[in-house]
Amino acid sequence: RQADPCTMVIFGASGDLTKRLLVPALYNLKHAGLLPEGFRLIGIARSPLDDETFRQEFTKAITEFATTDVDMAEWEDLVARVTYHSGAFDDPATYQTLADDLAEAAGGPDAIGNCLFYLATAPEFFAPIVERLAAAGLTREQGETWRRVIVEKPFGHDLVSARALNADLLAVLNERQIYRIDHYLGKETVQNIMVFRFANGIFEPLWNRDHIDHVQITVAETVGVEGRGSFYEQTGALRDMVPNHLFQLLSFIAMEAPTSFAADALRSEKVKVLDSVRPIDPASVPMDAVRGQYGAGVLAEKPVWAYRAEPRIAADSVTETYAALKLNIDNWRWAGVPFYMRTGKRLRRRMSEIAIQFKRAPIAVFRDTPVEDVGSNLLVLRIQPDEGVSLQFGAKIPGTALDIGNVKMNFQYQDYFQSAPSTGYETLIYDAMIGDATLFQRADNVEAGWRVVQPVLDVWASRRPRDFPNYEAGTQGPRQADELLARDGRVWRKI
Ligand code: NAP
Repeated sequence: RQADPCTMVIFGASGDLTKRLLVPALYNLKHAGLLPEGFRLIGIARSPLDDETFRQEFTKAITEFATTDVDMAEWEDLVARVTYHSGAFDDPATYQTLADDLAEAAGGPDAIGNCLFYLATAPEFFAPIVERLAAAGLTREQGETWRRVIVEKPFGHDLVSARALNADLLAVLNERQIYRIDHYLGKETVQNIMVFRFANGIFEPLWNRDHIDHVQITVAETVGVEGRGSFYEQTGALRDMVPNHLFQLLSFIAMEAPTSFAADALRSEKVKVLDSVRPIDPASVPMDAVRGQYGAGVLAEKPVWAYRAEPRIAADSVTETYAALKLNIDNWRWAGVPFYMRTGKRLRRRMSEIAIQFKRAPIAVFRDTPVEDVGSNLLVLRIQPDEGVSLQFGAKIPGTALDIGNVKMNFQYQDYFQSAPSTGYETLIYDAMIGDATLFQRADNVEAGWRVVQPVLDVWASRRPRDFPNYEAGTQGPRQADELLARDGRVWRKI
């Protein structure tokens, strides 16, 4: 169905995110017939542009970043609804002009309808923009009219700052007006984890400490910092990926079945998972958390630079480009089942997956085949690329001997479904327009994620790594990460 009638206001409308992801997402929504009748889009940034020049920029953006063939008639219809205000985020006049514009289009200040404010800006502007929107009366909801704010990531850079940002936003907005984005949740395969678990009866009885040996979550990238050097230097792999993306995957894999798929029921189950993670003891950080930084190496047969040689990176940088963690979830379902997770840049292959390693059969009854050679069942949920699910099990190798080999059943999305061209943002923007916050982070979800990683952040900040760079670009990551699993008698899956 079409989204509710609304005006969308993008703060930071001349920026990279808007052009690369939001413009194509809006076009895809338009193409799918999901944008509301009378939809309007207002862009705000400092660049001194008039409406016409701004529309041309949008047209340039859709030409460059479209995820599908663009029907020009549809595009013209969409871009004709776009206008632009030049203004600084800290200037109250910016908000007055916006309020006047909205009032004029609606036929009076009391007639301003639904508004979706999208904060596509650097994080330091999130709170100031919301405060000024509120001061201009633009966040007040009356009757059926809604006012919602989409907040980009990163949401804080540690627990203290995330709490402070939540407090600032909640001082002027209700929780239900806030849509904290983690675009990972817009991915079909991430949402499918829930469907896989809760729409199928056969897996859930096995989904616990009785049958699962351990879980590995991997988000490996081949890219380096891609011109985001100054941002990444302040951030690092742990902050950039773990409390948000990797914990989303962890939560979906480990949560209990929600009582419904309504936003709060689901988000409450997700937060319980993070609340059950055993707090990481600072003394055990060197054992249970590994950081790495890539040196020069070879990727796809091309030499690549070391992290420290990338533009806008300090020559003696101690920022990690790789992080691995071992977590324990202290609840009835998962006690004793370690969750290993890793993420890194410039690794051998781009892949995101969750691997569930089941326990071995209790005894092997096959002559000459010791139990450790029988192999164990492995279920892999592949998030990207090559989205799908595979299940490994043992089978007899043909021949007179009773030898056992591991074989795989493999489901690939592309064999069954044609996916709509997507940036991952379509679902999220649409959901915000219809008021479905299921795929957005609630305040407590965000804080729970930071709470888990905070001891690691603290220990790492207090001790300089002395062995950086400690992995070569184009490899599986640092040796210390292998040792983390080896101590438990386990090995990572190959990247
Ligand atoms: P960006 O390219 O630097 O864009 C920032 C925007 O804000 C520009 O439109 C800029 O325009 C405007 N701006 C900056 N200071 C301003 C001020 N004082 N007053 C008014 N306008 C101002 O940043 P981005 O890459 O789009 O990222 C935006 C947000 O999205 C960040 O929080 C980022 O973490 C998040 N994000 C980005 C990506 C991505 O792929 N880019 C992906 C995920 C999340 P003017 O210079 O014209 O004012």
